[in-house]
Amino acid sequence: MSPAVTVLRSVQGTRPRLTGPQLVVDLDAIAANTQTFARRTPGELMAVVKADGFGHGAADVARTALAHGASQLGVTAIAEGLALRAAGLSAPVLSWLNPVDADWAAAIGADLDVAVPSRDHLDALAHAAAQIGGRARVHLHLDAGMARDGASPSEWAALCRAARRAELLGQVQVVGMMGHLGCADDPAHPSNSTGRTRFAWGLMTARAAGLRPAQRHLAATSATLLDPLSHHTMSRVGAGLVGIDPTGTTELRGALTVTAPLVEVRSVLAGTPVGYGHSWTAPAATRLGLVPLGYADGLPRLASGEAWMRVRGVHAPVAGRISMDMTVVDLGSSGADVGDEVTVIGPRGSGGPTVADWAGWSGLLPHEIVTGLGGRLVRRTA
Ligand SMILES: *Cc1c(COP(=O)(O)O)cnc(C)c1O
Repeated sequence: MSPAVTVLRSVQGTRPRLTGPQLVVDLDAIAANTQTFARRTPGELMAVVKADGFGHGAADVARTALAHGASQLGVTAIAEGLALRAAGLSAPVLSWLNPVDADWAAAIGADLDVAVPSRDHLDALAHAAAQIGGRARVHLHLDAGMARDGASPSEWAALCRAARRAELLGQVQVVGMMGHLGCADDPAHPSNSTGRTRFAWGLMTARAAGLRPAQRHLAATSATLLDPLSHHTMSRVGAGLVGIDPTGTTELRGALTVTAPLVEVRSVLAGTPVGYGHSWTAPAATRLGLVPLGYADGLPRLASGEAWMRVRGVHAPVAGRISMDMTVVDLGSSGADVGDEVTVIGPRGSGGPTVADWAGWSGLLPHEIVTGLGGRLVRRTA
């Protein structure tokens, strides 16, 4: 974790101020987004807080979502679930991506639900449960058509029968069944209906094997917004909670603000080349500011030619290439000076630039921008 925020005296010696790059998470925005998704599905809402809550802080996002309409939490690795338990969260947590030799005993001991995508996973999990005299809560995971994660249809019936045998031995309890859609942001894509059909077939097959998975979940953010037929008993929503709408249909609130102080300011003459490769040259005499954030902190280098930041209420274009640790901006005639706060990311309505702006500049997904932020940023909530 980053060190605590340092409090310094300002240059004037009067006003104490926070220093260094900051990532501020607006929990009210996460609460509002959670309510939006809870209204959009008649079933339960699982708040997906993998990848440290999409870079917004897993425990903070989880706590806020649970207080505003979510009833369960979802993560990929068991370790992420254990961290939520250590943070004091007692809601159901599902972990769906683990190696065969994962620490299943720790998962069972912490009362985590785990997804099972294969016979090997099931056998290892049942073995661990038998050894510690516990019973694992399982969601069987079917590949609904992405060929990414989950059991293939050809393995599904045998997996269901094996899971039923392990149930009868008291080693597991199949409480859920999950799948995931690969093209849900495009409602016209034919794979949505084939995925739904495959999921329905998987459920029939599970029931025929004697299983009664009470929680059945196929929809993530996009399908929750666009495809009511995919909703079943629960939706797993991650991106939407932090204000990312891959469907472009819904008003959500961005929750991130990233700021950093100007740490150096210099005046340069027209024709001065700036940064690695001298890819930018000052077209006129100007003042340049140095922002202590770079691609190691998650600012994509590919945005260099187009990005801007905001300081003293005006746009300051990025001048030259974003470096590993720092970025130069052209302050123009803004009058900005050392110590001024630069807005590197601001939610829509704040004057920005937004996560979506950074994604557009760099050809990345907004998901990649928010999960890439890190490095020296100190995260706090507001
Ligand atoms: C990441 C993930 C989700 C959440 O998806 P969003 O589109 O961010 O809501 C749901 N299910 C699975 C299996 C995932 O990997």
